[in-house]
Amino acid sequence: MRGEELVVNEALKTRALPEGSYDKLLEFLKLYRDAVQIVVDRIWGINEKLSWKKLHRLFYSDLMRLGFRAHHAKEIYINAKNLMESAKNNGGRKPVLRKLSAKIDKYDYKLDLNNMTLTLKLHNNYEVKLRLITSRERVEKFRSWSNYELVVKYEDGEFWVSIYFKRAVKPLKPRTVMTIDLNFDNVTLAAYTLDGRRVRLKKLKTPHKKILTHKIWIERIQKRYPKSWRFIKNVRKAIERHGKRIKNISWDYAHKLGDLIAELALKYHSVVVLEDLEKLKENNKKKDKEFNKRLGLWFYRRIQFCVEYEAMERNLQVAKIDPRGTSSKCPRCGGKLVEYGYRVLRCRKCGFIGDRDVTATINIYKKYISKHSRCGVPGVAPKAPKPYENPSGMQGNKNEAMTTES
Ligand SMILES: [Zn+2]
Repeated sequence: MRGEELVVNEALKTRALPEGSYDKLLEFLKLYRDAVQIVVDRIWGINEKLSWKKLHRLFYSDLMRLGFRAHHAKEIYINAKNLMESAKNNGGRKPVLRKLSAKIDKYDYKLDLNNMTLTLKLHNNYEVKLRLITSRERVEKFRSWSNYELVVKYEDGEFWVSIYFKRAVKPLKPRTVMTIDLNFDNVTLAAYTLDGRRVRLKKLKTPHKKILTHKIWIERIQKRYPKSWRFIKNVRKAIERHGKRIKNISWDYAHKLGDLIAELALKYHSVVVLEDLEKLKENNKKKDKEFNKRLGLWFYRRIQFCVEYEAMERNLQVAKIDPRGTSSKCPRCGGKLVEYGYRVLRCRKCGFIGDRDVTATINIYKKYISKHSRCGVPGVAPKAPKPYENPSGMQGNKNEAMTTES
């Protein structure tokens, strides 16, 4: 982790207006689409694996003859290969392209953020200059970033560009470790110093119950109209409404939580440590059940995505640890923990007693430290939490964290 560079990516999507005629850009987009289609048609029947080298050999000279530039050609066959693969993976039919959209490599455009213009290099050495229709404030933050490719689209009579930016960030050297434990109905975060002293503890509620309620509604409706629900307009609409609520609630929550955690981590100069959800899926059946399959891992992924994103925006390091045993192993002796009242665990071997969620954060902390102990400072086991600890943020209904009412 130390000295490693992080890369943050972000796209700037904006409308763009060609100076002068639309014709050449439209012509380019059509030619590009047709070229992708030709490549898709020709590779559809090929069942062997297609390397870039082979694609290059097969299509490069033909694409150059059509008037494309070298990097246009590369983007075209990569695009075609991706389209074919995803269609085949979904067991679908050969794709037929209608939309006008082209990915353009950094060698084939020039972006001028001072003048808010973009010059694209097209087929047959044509060029088109576009004015970016967006505010200066929005562009401002990208000034110090580098950009590496863009997508230009034509939709309902308008051109749109998505410019992909990236930025290397030098992560702050962490002074504390912020551990995050995600549960069905709460998120527990705790910051520990590198020698194991806890400096912050916070529990936040999740909107899982609310999400579940909408989910139950959807299932109920689908049960009442088996097979036919898709075809009855009002029924379909009702289902869509519940789906939309789930989406709003979860994104809203994830954004707020990500922001809140990152702000706290910034305050404490923390490295943010999360459980690796991919590993969770493979090897932790018990916790998996606890994570409730009815809601699935998607909600946790969404939260983690926002936490990671917000942390990286603030130049904070993010690390992931294997979640195995974080809520079943004694942080003091490694023995097995058993239930000891509501959300309290006890170690049979050494008598350790602790709040279930707080214990999980200690285990997460210990896992992180054992892998990343710095400058010979070994991770010292933090003190055991008191069994009925009432961390800030959970007191009464004064949950300063988040209300997802809206
Ligand atoms: Zn123990």
